[in-house]
Amino acid sequence: MNTPIAIALHGGAGVLQPGTLSGADEDLVHGALLGALQAGLKVLEQGGSAIDAAQASVVELEECPWFNAGKGAVFTHVGDHEMDAAIMSGAQREAGAVAGIHHARNPIKAARAVLDHSDHVLLAGAGADQFVAEQNLEYVANDWFDTELRRRQWQAHRSAPDTLSLEPGGIERKFGTVGAVALDRLGNVAAATSTGGITNKRFGRIGDSPLIGAGTWADNRSAAISATGHGEFFIRCAVAHDIAARMRYSGDSLESACDAVVRGELLALGGSGGVVAVSPRGETALVFNTPGMYRAWRDVDGGLHTAIYAEDDRLHG
Ligand code: ASP
Repeated sequence: MNTPIAIALHGGAGVLQPGTLSGADEDLVHGALLGALQAGLKVLEQGGSAIDAAQASVVELEECPWFNAGKGAVFTHVGDHEMDAAIMSGAQREAGAVAGIHHARNPIKAARAVLDHSDHVLLAGAGADQFVAEQNLEYVANDWFDTELRRRQWQAHRSAPDTLSLEPGGIERKFGTVGAVALDRLGNVAAATSTGGITNKRFGRIGDSPLIGAGTWADNRSAAISATGHGEFFIRCAVAHDIAARMRYSGDSLESACDAVVRGELLALGGSGGVVAVSPRGETALVFNTPGMYRAWRDVDGGLHTAIYAEDDRLHG
């Protein structure tokens, strides 16, 4: 008998309350989230793998300038874009990741290339750029990622006294990053995460997204998880792995493991953000400790949902 399929995704978490966005922008975001969900779902419905489905959803989100990943990535302190991404399959815990890359149009494809075409898990900086150049991937100039919205945000940060954008009380509490998790008909789970990081970052700062076990994790014995939020805290809490470990070692349900880590461990240290997760049994969880999180999921009856704010749920026919 076929196992169920499942898919969920996020496009970042933060201070998103009703009224934050115009009606037109809300519609745009719901449409983009739905399109990304459908892209991954199509792969699963055609019998494709969870890792291909998660990647397909993330590629769609990277292509949408609204989200801080791929086109629309934030500016660094020196005015360029440095992107991080990771992808992991739960069957054998194979993983690939890139950090601080500049030229792959779709950083998640670069992470996938590390998984598929190298003996390594994580490549960073100039070496990772060189690896990307040698792969059959679309290679773009760094300013291809520029958008006016991100430039304005960056300039606002640079002129503000607090230039660390994610500090509590900082001027920007809306996190970017995109991610997707999926379960395929063979019972394999997978996770994919991609980000431009945080506005005005410097010194080669790397967040949780490309760190296996922090922002991204997949293990068929527990769950696949993709995170978004203040990366330093997610690293210190090993968020994604902690969720999976609670399920394996303590028998926690997917929902209660996500809840304990996102609303317990993370908050205790002052970390904000959220996760999306799927289990091999077909459960999905979308848990965050911020006022909102861009998100989309398929319910067990096949209904497709998108949401922005905490009390939010748009069901699409
Ligand atoms: N977690 C990402 C990072 O710290 C940022 C985000 O999710 O918005 O790089």
